[in-house]
Amino acid sequence: MNAYESMKLYFTRAADRLGLEDSIRKLLLTSKREVQVQVAIERDSGELATFVGYRVQHDNSRGPMKGGFRYHPEVDLEEVRALAALMTWKTAVVNIPYGGAKGGLAIDPKTFSSRELEAVTRKFIDGIHDIFGPDIDIPAPDMGTNDKVMAWIMNQYGKYHGFSPACVTGKPVEMHGLPGREEATGRGVAIITLKVLSRLNRKPQQSRVAIQGFGNVGTFAAKFLSEAECKITAISDVSGAYYRAGGIDISAALRHTAEHRGSLEGFTGGEKISNAQLFELDCDVLIPAALGGVITKENAPKIKAAIVVEAANAPTNVDADDLLYERGVFVVPDILANAGGVTASYFEWAQNRQHYSWGLNRCRQELDHILGEAFQNVWDVGKEHKTNMRTAAYMVGIGRVRRAATLAGTM
Ligand code: GLU
Repeated sequence: MNAYESMKLYFTRAADRLGLEDSIRKLLLTSKREVQVQVAIERDSGELATFVGYRVQHDNSRGPMKGGFRYHPEVDLEEVRALAALMTWKTAVVNIPYGGAKGGLAIDPKTFSSRELEAVTRKFIDGIHDIFGPDIDIPAPDMGTNDKVMAWIMNQYGKYHGFSPACVTGKPVEMHGLPGREEATGRGVAIITLKVLSRLNRKPQQSRVAIQGFGNVGTFAAKFLSEAECKITAISDVSGAYYRAGGIDISAALRHTAEHRGSLEGFTGGEKISNAQLFELDCDVLIPAALGGVITKENAPKIKAAIVVEAANAPTNVDADDLLYERGVFVVPDILANAGGVTASYFEWAQNRQHYSWGLNRCRQELDHILGEAFQNVWDVGKEHKTNMRTAAYMVGIGRVRRAATLAGTM
């Protein structure tokens, strides 16, 4: 089952509980607009390279659409469509005034020079500049993109529309970005993890955490959780996984990646194990923080963690989710667990529109507040309807979107 089918099934379970009419289900599952553009550049070798760029705008009932741009070889329209819908539910769960969108290019950014990536990004924006903007749809970083890419987007967009820093979020701090945006997704994952631990009467000091993925989200989640005295027993990236029963020294791991172009390759602060073994470790919390679809019906029965916190988007296939649920594993869904990123994007957008700079403390305080409220809300709905956190989060999200669409009279 692919990401779109999984999302649809999760949606349907919540829609059933909400008693949503078929006509509204259809409306909420159909994207507003799906755009596909050709992106052709000259490579450093002089060769011509052509890619397909996507932007799916899923729903704008609650505000301008919002969501990242992903540069990854496996990007395709179905995946982008699923991720766009997830953004609609995510922005609604944290109650920020946005709809949902997502975009991407099927390209492996690691195999392109910085000049080539800049050219690809500018060409992509040439193709879609007239369908996004501060009041329409606001892109942001996602897998394979970063603040540098966002700076090119702002600059290219500005060539058509004039100075518009609010047309994209996740920009460098020196270029109308927000201090705290870069760390926000990982910080949010840590905040939500600590809240779950506390609700389940577990102490951070006695909690062993395994984190799959050591990119933007995984590194900051590891940093904040280790600061909260959780024991990070395993981390991983494409080079493999690293395990230490007594807890990995996260500062040492961060130093290692800083000195090795972001890679954990050669890290000696833990025993080397495989990425598959990381999923099966005896630990308390498992945090998938990389690709989607990594928890499958094959590895789900072997997961020993009591809690799974979805830092990645769509990491759990539906059949695997059912298996985890049957086994009593507590799963915190992506649309709540990783919502810290888009929440800080909202602060950045607000800052850009006010032309008033926010500091790191204000960003952190407001982030903690919004995520705290969202967590409580989802927890309460879960208790009231005797359902798991995923269905509860979808119920909160879908309920808000339906209400806004009804109030606007668009139905
Ligand atoms: N790409 C992130 C996500 O999936 C952030 C999106 C945003 O900041 O707009 O939530």
